[in-house]
Amino acid sequence: MTEELAFRGFEYAPAPESRSIVRLEDAYGLFVGGRWREPAETYTTISPASEEPLAQVGQAGPEDVGAAVAAAREAFAGQWSALRPAERAKYLYRIARLLQERAREFAVLESLNGGKPIKESRDVDLPLAAAHFFYYAGWADKLEYAFPNRRPRPIGVAGQIIPWNFPLLMLAWKIAPALAAGNTVVLKPAETTPLTALLFCDVLRQAELPRGVVNIVTGDGRTGAALVSHPDVDKIAFTGSTEVGKAIQRELAGTGKGLTLELGGKAANIVFDDAPLDQAVEGIVNGIFFNQGHVCCAGSRLLVQESIQQPLIDKLKRRLGTLRVGDPLDKNTDVGAINSAAQLQRIEELVAAGEQEGAEIYQPPCRLPEQGYWFAPTVFTNVAQSHRIAQEEIFGPVLSALTFRTPEEAVEKANNTAYGLSAGVWTEKGSRILWTAQRLRAGVVWANTFNRFDPTSPFGGYKESGFGREGGLHGLEPYLRFDGDATEWGG
Ligand code: NDP
Repeated sequence: MTEELAFRGFEYAPAPESRSIVRLEDAYGLFVGGRWREPAETYTTISPASEEPLAQVGQAGPEDVGAAVAAAREAFAGQWSALRPAERAKYLYRIARLLQERAREFAVLESLNGGKPIKESRDVDLPLAAAHFFYYAGWADKLEYAFPNRRPRPIGVAGQIIPWNFPLLMLAWKIAPALAAGNTVVLKPAETTPLTALLFCDVLRQAELPRGVVNIVTGDGRTGAALVSHPDVDKIAFTGSTEVGKAIQRELAGTGKGLTLELGGKAANIVFDDAPLDQAVEGIVNGIFFNQGHVCCAGSRLLVQESIQQPLIDKLKRRLGTLRVGDPLDKNTDVGAINSAAQLQRIEELVAAGEQEGAEIYQPPCRLPEQGYWFAPTVFTNVAQSHRIAQEEIFGPVLSALTFRTPEEAVEKANNTAYGLSAGVWTEKGSRILWTAQRLRAGVVWANTFNRFDPTSPFGGYKESGFGREGGLHGLEPYLRFDGDATEWGG
């Protein structure tokens, strides 16, 4: 037995969050036109931490998607687009406040269905989701000021497809700006994490949002595909894999529909030799182990200056040994469950490729639960740029560490990727931060921090990480058309 395992003196006692605040239905329908619609087919959604079945959920087919789009069109033409902007804002404020009031319930359900630690869903996902509704509520009646001399108008019905890593937060990123701009929406949650989107329908009821303004259709990729190909959808907003994003872009080419894509990433977290090492270690850990690494902007490639490689990696390994992996509902858990069996398989395949290609693997001693989907925090050293683990998005708690000697080499290696979503820079010198940030091809560059989000700040990528921005003023633009623009969409 290793020393770490033998010494249990300061072990945390279990601190499970109670599940009793969540009332699960046995089965959920599709939320169409403000009513529950019976789906023709259903599937079982589970807890990835225990594989326990949680509920039956609808698998929406083309007819269901058609009904949702029709409801959204009717709500758009009938009242929502013509509503006084200050009235629209009222609904958004109500939704934001209700999310705050019911935050604990949503946080528990998010961790239950998705596997992320409760301290993250409680302290990050929920506050940020509410903040997005507050922020965009503020813009709803100020669009003329936001885009002076451009006469902004809503585009119509938005089809929105979101992934499983931040189910409620991605819903907020998509729905809040669309509604603030006067559009109506049909949203498809990810197959493995539909429950918080379905609970959100109850918030819409409480907020008395007019029927049909928001429609939620659950199901797998086929439901997403039906939404993309529906002729009466004016704009698609997609967050997910680059592969599916490319397929959607090909399908929409020439149709005149609007499109924004927020896809994968392989972000570099660059640590220069003058960086405060302990802080950098915390930033590296937050960058890759937050949400089990299921984060499109995760700092999955560590670029460390050669002269400090050894002390930094030693500190990082020690820190990894203190991460608590396990029950997502335990308030002390740092790393929760992998979201699905399929995702676990993908992580295992890429980690095996890393070992085969000659990188050196390190995993701290940690006991993984027997039931459910789990992967230990992992660091690879001796990684070459050509290795798959340095090129492909692993989307799991796996860090690939590479070294550099000069700032120029750091920038060149950081940009040596098909992606361009985010990056991190750790150094004491402000001038070096600016020099590096100007040369990085990434939508977001964090300096001496990582994974910081704010509704006022635009987020999005370059290259294969997609196009269009979410958040901030930029996030409103894809949901508006402007008088005089060449393309006239919808309504
Ligand atoms: P997908 O891109 O398949 O999933 C994203 C969303 O798109 C889900 O709602 C999915 O539905 C839906 N979808 C799937 N196929 C289609 C289609 N043909 N047309 C329209 N919508 C579709 O990602 P995966 O869940 O399969 O994850 C695979 C990899 O993608 C991960 O390992 C990770 O590397 C990356 N990824 C990146 C994300 C990001 O935030 N950038 C988020 C999620 C994954 P359903 O869930 O039912 O399949």
